[in-house]
Amino acid sequence: LKPQMIDLRDTVSEMTHLLNRLVGEKVSLTLSHDPELRPIRADKRQLEQVLMNLVVNARDAMPGGGEITITTENLHLVQDIPRDRVTVPKGDYVAIQVSDQGTGIAPEVTRKIFEPFFTTKRTGEGTGLGLSTAYGIIKQTGGYIFCDSVVGSGTCFTIYLPAFDRVI
Ligand code: ADP
Ligand code: MG
Repeated sequence: LKPQMIDLRDTVSEMTHLLNRLVGEKVSLTLSHDPELRPIRADKRQLEQVLMNLVVNARDAMPGGGEITITTENLHLVQDIPRDRVTVPKGDYVAIQVSDQGTGIAPEVTRKIFEPFFTTKRTGEGTGLGLSTAYGIIKQTGGYIFCDSVVGSGTCFTIYLPAFDRVI
């Protein structure tokens, strides 16, 4: 584990070749970055793992193809935000979103997706460890991860990581 200052725009750019190969021909990948994006502090390998897991899930949710969008954005929370089982304290974050146009996840299923070994995929197609791993990494990095989904429309995973000051 080697936490370092990271510009997520670079991390995502460096992964585009890999990610495009992962999603295949029918799925397109669109990136949208905040031009003023602040750095974060994380283990780069682990962060890449998280993004890969989210993108693979998004791909699997769109067997007929579609678009996956990855966005990064500076976020200034002026007040604590209660979300799911935690409250995100006010402060400065970098938000990363991975959204798809896939099947979506029913609310009663969404509650379980971060549990280890929870999967709706057939044996051999999913281990059920992608999101629990992502959750652990993000938590360890001092961040938060949430899922918003609409059945039949798509899913958006949002990650908040503490923002650091740009070194100039
Ligand atoms: P796995 O992908 O091996 O099943 P994950 O932990 O990555 O395990 O995901 C757990 C479950 O969450 C998946 O089986 C699926 O039901 C659901 N899921 C995760 N991401 C998405 C998504 N983008 N769209 C629809 N369902 C999803
Ligand atoms: Mg997965």
